Amino acid sequence: MPLPLAGKRALITGSSHGVGLAAAHLFAEQGAEVVLHGNANMADADKAVQAIGPAALGAVQADLSRPGAGRELFDAALHLASGRLDIVINNAGIHWASPLDASDTDWEATWAGVLQVNLMAVADICRAAIPEMVANGGGSIVNIASRAGYRGEDREHMAYAASKGAVLALTKTIARQWGSEGIHAYALAPGWIDTRMGPQHEADRARARAEIPIGELARPEEIAAMCAFLASGACRSATGSCIDINGASYVR
Ligand code: NAD
Repeated sequence: MPLPLAGKRALITGSSHGVGLAAAHLFAEQGAEVVLHGNANMADADKAVQAIGPAALGAVQADLSRPGAGRELFDAALHLASGRLDIVINNAGIHWASPLDASDTDWEATWAGVLQVNLMAVADICRAAIPEMVANGGGSIVNIASRAGYRGEDREHMAYAASKGAVLALTKTIARQWGSEGIHAYALAPGWIDTRMGPQHEADRARARAEIPIGELARPEEIAAMCAFLASGACRSATGSCIDINGASYVR
């Protein structure tokens, strides 16, 4: 069954590779027009625009570690989308380690960096998107959080877990407060996904698989499929919810 994405315009952050790239391709296949976003890897984002073809409205460069970049990214994407974005997928994220025994300087820099990219940029993009979507009759926001936001993460990734927990709270607030004005907001809480952020070395991959009852890391296409389903409006009543995608490694 095709998803009701035809004619919709979507901004997908972090779409030069990984989950965002898979989402950009899927949204375009399902009839949406997409604005991609890259940071240091603009060549990959531009390559994806070429590969997707006319359904790709362009790619915006933005370093979301810079305060203020989230709004600039949204405004540039809105321009490429001729003033109407129906969907925002906040996917860009970082998984930096912040061990207790780091130097104070490193500890503070890591926490600030993780909170800026994973939380503040998401909040800034939502802040820019909500009034635009309300003015255009509504829209969908999907924020990619993490299982870590509920379950917690390993010792070195407290900052990551804290940022993703905050994204869950932010998403629920948007859903509750702007639902009456046509805004639908969803969060995803994946476990390990088979991307550059996931485990790379075979020993680490085997350890990750061992904690997942179905024995496999999620494919980026699986996360993209859930983004497309929710963002399409096929199940608007799910607004405010967070979908676990972790092979039953963490069951709430
Ligand atoms: P990835 O590393 O392949 O992609 C991350 C994306 O974020 C990239 O496109 C990158 O360009 C972008 N990004 C990173 N720093 C940026 C910055 N400073 N400015 C702008 N863009 C920046 O990883 P992925 O698995 O595709 O991650 C997608 C989302 O899924 C992230 O939010 C991540 O936290 C979440 N997630 C990933 C996993 C996993 O195991 N890979 C698990 C749970 C949640």
